[in-house]
Amino acid sequence: MSLIITSPLRGWATALDSVPDPVFADRMMGDGVAIQPLGDTVVAPCDGEVTTLHAAGHAVALRSAEGAELLIHIGLDTVMLNGEGFNPLVAVGQTVARGDPLIRFDLDAVGCAATSLITPVIVTNAEAFAITRRSVDMPVGECEALMTLVPVGGDARRRSDDGISIEQAVTLSLPHGIHARPAARIGETARRYEADIHLSIGDKRGDARSTVALLALGTRFGDAVTVQARGDDAEAALAAVVALLATDMGEGAPARPAPAAVPAAPLAEGLIGGVIASPGLAMGPAARLRQADIAIAREGSGAVEERAALIAARTDVRGRIAARADAAGGSVAAVMQAHLALIDDPELLAAAERRIADGASAGFAWRGAVHDQIDALRATGNAHLIERIDDLVDIERQLLSALTGTPTEAETIAPGAILVADDLLPSQLIALSASGLAGIALARGGPTSHVAILCAGMGLPSLVAMGDALDAVEDGTILLLDAEAGHVNSAPSPAETDAFAQRLTRRAARREAARAAAAEACHSADGTRIEVFANIGTVDDAALAATQGAEGSGLVRSEFLFLDRDCAPSEDEQHAAYQAIADALPGKPVIIRLLDIGGDKPAAYIPIGAEENPALGQRGIRVALAHPELLETQLRAILRVEPVGQCKIMIPMVASLDELRAVRASTDRLRGEMGIVTPVEIGVMVETPAAAMTADLLAAEADFLSIGTNDLTQYVLAMDRGNPAVAAGVDALHPAVLRMIGETCRLAATHGRWVGVCGGLASDPAALPILIGLGVTEISAVPGFVAEAKAVVRRLTLVEARAHAELALQCKSAADVRALARAFEETR
Ligand code: PEP
Ligand code: MG
Repeated sequence: MSLIITSPLRGWATALDSVPDPVFADRMMGDGVAIQPLGDTVVAPCDGEVTTLHAAGHAVALRSAEGAELLIHIGLDTVMLNGEGFNPLVAVGQTVARGDPLIRFDLDAVGCAATSLITPVIVTNAEAFAITRRSVDMPVGECEALMTLVPVGGDARRRSDDGISIEQAVTLSLPHGIHARPAARIGETARRYEADIHLSIGDKRGDARSTVALLALGTRFGDAVTVQARGDDAEAALAAVVALLATDMGEGAPARPAPAAVPAAPLAEGLIGGVIASPGLAMGPAARLRQADIAIAREGSGAVEERAALIAARTDVRGRIAARADAAGGSVAAVMQAHLALIDDPELLAAAERRIADGASAGFAWRGAVHDQIDALRATGNAHLIERIDDLVDIERQLLSALTGTPTEAETIAPGAILVADDLLPSQLIALSASGLAGIALARGGPTSHVAILCAGMGLPSLVAMGDALDAVEDGTILLLDAEAGHVNSAPSPAETDAFAQRLTRRAARREAARAAAAEACHSADGTRIEVFANIGTVDDAALAATQGAEGSGLVRSEFLFLDRDCAPSEDEQHAAYQAIADALPGKPVIIRLLDIGGDKPAAYIPIGAEENPALGQRGIRVALAHPELLETQLRAILRVEPVGQCKIMIPMVASLDELRAVRASTDRLRGEMGIVTPVEIGVMVETPAAAMTADLLAAEADFLSIGTNDLTQYVLAMDRGNPAVAAGVDALHPAVLRMIGETCRLAATHGRWVGVCGGLASDPAALPILIGLGVTEISAVPGFVAEAKAVVRRLTLVEARAHAELALQCKSAADVRALARAFEETR
């Protein structure tokens, strides 16, 4: 169980190395963090008992309920002041709660008299508690997270029942349990030690060096896992793995493919419905990928020979995967890294070797080892883990192909075909993508599988989870794959084929024309100015957005600076990043969203306790307001960007007017302090039904409103945007969401404020005419869709968009809205 130590003082947190006293800098008293104080009251950094209060009143020690011993030493050489300027507020033996005042001191007087005011906060029983995270080089407020401790020995560590190993329980802080990436990190750490290290939960146990074994534990956030170590360096190994497991390992939100949709209404004859893994249209002959079994002998021809064959095949496959990882970037490289961890997995190898020793052939042994792990993953019942089975099957087949010299089926698909398969492996998809596939239709698979993510990254129209109906599709049948409506037409009439072909031709011509006119300003056909911006996450995205014709950025997801690290970025670091983004979009508006952390985007150094329902807990602006220093550092960094005013501020997850007022008050105060007279616009994101329904109240005081349709959809439909089990229903074109958008625009107009859309709906061509018709005048889309979005707007008149939106509001389902949008597009 980890323990968060919060700051006992308001001030600037810094590493102990910067304390000009070797007693502290050299950790003679223990490890910790130092604070340069800005406040005059030392408060309890955790619940506990006061164990020492120095007679001079300058130092206090506490023992937390968990046994951590902490010393807070105000200033250096302050013992000489003999209590002058210090006012202790507690007595030894007193029980205190986090935040209770312990000592008040005269900041000015002590500051003048002491060598330094720097205040070390030390964990004095470092042998029992390791610091797994600490906040340094950043401002901290009283009761903000300063350090995370995990017990590494003592009571927490005990001898295992076998009498040889030592073990310790740890509660998982990983938001999604031990997935592939954390499993790889644990393996990496474990490999630094000689000791055997195992993790167990309930009756499941897995080698810490084995990704598959760790996945098969099926762990979740908050699970208590026991780490066991045995061997010469068991103590150190146990401490290292426990320390790692106690952190969230920088795990952010899981990668998510394009929103999925399935038609709710019964489908017409010949149509097979599916979940959209990657949107788009494709037409072509069905090419069935049959996953023929690779024949392998059961019996081996001797352990030495079979083992050598297995190692040679592994080396071969490893080389090929590594070469693909090097040649590719983005999602392909990430998937290849996951496959490398599997091919190197010691548990798989050991299991295969055991079988070989029992007389099996290399192939039979490998297949058996992989299938044991597949069964274990399936038994977890965890949808995310079950989707990783694809990856295991993939490396099974790759190794068997290498062993037997069987060519992969991928090489036999003709260009322009629509691949039809029961399922597809990531490596097959990567091999096929070079052969010019038109689209993909899979009977199984899920919208968060690696294949779905890869398809979305490649822009390859794809449907998954189409079911057994796909079995009836014969090789060579012309298919019309509509990964916007969510179906395949497997028996199109000549008229339907013609119409679809025309749609495709029109699309291609329009895309070409759109690209040619990407740089021009965007107006509707009847002259209304609609701004088309891009969503960006990094400086590279900003440069890409500029080349795509973006007229600015309607959403800079500033989280990119905050996730996957141990402490918050400094003001200077943030300022440099925001300035670089502004410079990449010269003269164009850049809307920086304030830190949107919490929910599915945890940052370990911002302490948010385990929440039963994180999506409804500490998220977005709620977190920033609870950590004013964090908020003010970010505001200052934005306000410093030149020219002042190019960057606007946007507040995420607003649920009430007070939140806007609080941010505006801080911004105005900081502007005053910084001598900035130019006003800086502040807008709110409409992501909660509360914000949508009170858009008039917000618009009275906000400079603009921007609708985050991803979250708005999740909260309006009460469907988790990251849960594959409800993915098919999470469609932002649901009439309930559209009515919320319409209402937001109507209410904002009463105060003359503009409304934009920066959620995923802004990148959905079916949605744009409806959004414009509802009154949206700014669209912030993914950079690659900017040119097309401009083209869609240019073809529209406001009158027809309004009439179309009115019909959409009256639709009975998202599927009906999509059908209406298709009909609208076809008439144009
Ligand atoms: C949204 O919710 O639509 C949005 C743009 O924010 P996020 O980063 O949460 O997707
Ligand atoms: Mg959001």
